[in-house]
Amino acid sequence: MDMRHHNDPEITQSATKSDAKSGWVYLVGAGPGDPELLTLKAARLIAQADVLVYDNLVSAEVLDMASPTAERIYAGKEQGNHSLPQDELNVLLVNLAKAGKRVVRLKGGDPYIFGRGGEEVETLAADGVHFEVVPGVTAAAGVAAYAGIPLTHRNHAQACVFVTGHLKDGSMNLDWPGLARKPQTVVIYMGLTGLSYLCGKLMEHGLPADWPAAIVQEGTRATQRTVTGTLGTLPELAVGAQMRGPTLIIVGSVVTLHDKLRWFEEAVAAESL
Ligand code: SAH
Repeated sequence: MDMRHHNDPEITQSATKSDAKSGWVYLVGAGPGDPELLTLKAARLIAQADVLVYDNLVSAEVLDMASPTAERIYAGKEQGNHSLPQDELNVLLVNLAKAGKRVVRLKGGDPYIFGRGGEEVETLAADGVHFEVVPGVTAAAGVAAYAGIPLTHRNHAQACVFVTGHLKDGSMNLDWPGLARKPQTVVIYMGLTGLSYLCGKLMEHGLPADWPAAIVQEGTRATQRTVTGTLGTLPELAVGAQMRGPTLIIVGSVVTLHDKLRWFEEAVAAESL
């Protein structure tokens, strides 16, 4: 029997807390596109969700795994077109949880890699909302596997750096001397718009014009396309191939392995014969 008195601050405190924590928010990485790259945990939580709040990079097949009765809320995040401002989204997540819902906040790739997941969880934590974070296959890992470009390789690169090429105020504030190093791979998220600027900067800081570089569109999806070239040629090749987002750019000599290690685009083509 619980002998504590009702005025016991521990009881009142935990009552208020549990009110605030009646729902849950699961911040879930949806992977780069192929639904089979979801974790088992993500698949279970999606199937059990009352509400899904998802970004534009989450594939339709992943959304289809939710119950038909689950509410689906599109949170946008296309570059330059944020359909739901981040602060409103943060408030929405808190309110849904406080209404007792099981909320799955679905993000493309991994929630903590260029996904603003940290900002969303900070708000949840500040408001005392119960949350869990489920990692996902980030675009770099998905693309590396499906495009046949290992991110590290003992003969090519002992380090791998992920950067965002998102242009803020027309310039990229990156550590160019650090990126323009040879025995490493540089993976650039959101780099399509700034591709020629990026390649130019890497050459300006010492990488040769014939240094290998690749751009991969819609990695791990049946529509995946890969274009390989060099820092000198890639910007023009990407325009010629009419590449459009989402694309990932990989710079480094590992790109030369693509010809030997490619398999996915061929497998898709063979399947559709
Ligand atoms: N959190 C995500 C990244 C979000 S930023 C992750 O971990 O993957 C969005 C950028 O990710 C896109 O502009 C693109 O550069 C990259 N991206 C995401 N999915 C991709 C895919 N299937 N193929 C290529 N690039 C992808």
